[in-house]
Amino acid sequence: MDVVTDTELLPSQGETVLGKDYFMTPGGKGANQAVAASRLGGDVSFIGKVGNDVFGDRLMANLQQNGVNTEGIESSETFSSGMANVLLKNQDNRIIVVPGANNQVTAEYAEHYSHILTESNIVLAQLEIPLSTIEWCSAFCHEHGIPFILNPAPAQLLPETLIKHSTYITPNEEEYTKINSPSIEKDYGETFITTLGAHGVTYRNMTVPAPQVKAIDTTGAGDTFNGALSYYLASGYNVEDALYLSNTAASFTVEHPGAQAGMPTWEQVRERTD
Ligand code: ATP
Repeated sequence: MDVVTDTELLPSQGETVLGKDYFMTPGGKGANQAVAASRLGGDVSFIGKVGNDVFGDRLMANLQQNGVNTEGIESSETFSSGMANVLLKNQDNRIIVVPGANNQVTAEYAEHYSHILTESNIVLAQLEIPLSTIEWCSAFCHEHGIPFILNPAPAQLLPETLIKHSTYITPNEEEYTKINSPSIEKDYGETFITTLGAHGVTYRNMTVPAPQVKAIDTTGAGDTFNGALSYYLASGYNVEDALYLSNTAASFTVEHPGAQAGMPTWEQVRERTD
């Protein structure tokens, strides 16, 4: 859950200030990406964990309202829901992320829900749960021939085996510099799909441009792109077409404030690509 406080003053040590406004908005990269794929028409299941608290209830309800299967989500009795505390002062933001129950999504936990993985024709993961879980998941998918996409956000250096077990890895430009070394790129050049904001996306030697739109708020653009890419690849599109359609899907999100509100339906994407 993102809890966003809009304020003209930021408190210094020991100080209390009055803020202007606050709002809560369901987030988590995984949840946003699941909603993006579901809104396009995908049959999406989510594996994760929330806290047994009011945020957990709202996060679950939001996924269910968006048609995401939540069978793989449990509620932790000991940890709170993952939460991002955002202090917003004009364009400047300061964010504290508390992973909470996300840290309890261990490899054993994911293994308990491995039937969801084997029933899927694509698996998409992010780095907001422990890296060891992602490593297990990628190895499991590799072993079972299930395409595995990793959105490496928040960025950290990736072990080479994880890169090897991933079908595609989708950093933005900044994340790209943090997750690997140039020598790895030489061996796994066909794995990396790098998003370039308004310029679209680059894959191998190809750049697929994004539609030109009036951007209001880019929050969630990367999440929409990843959810859409998974949906279109799972639906049988080739990579080039999937990248083109995913750019188009993500371009809708930047036209609206917030992450999930602007995520498009399949029909909306089709109309913009006709
Ligand atoms: P964010 O963190 O803002 O959600 P990101 O940094 O993860 O996004 P970006 O590379 O900025 O990722 O954007 C992801 C995709 O969203 C781009 O590849 C593109 O398809 C689309 N996109 C982003 N910004 C724009 C824009 N201004 N106009 C059109 N499409 C955009």
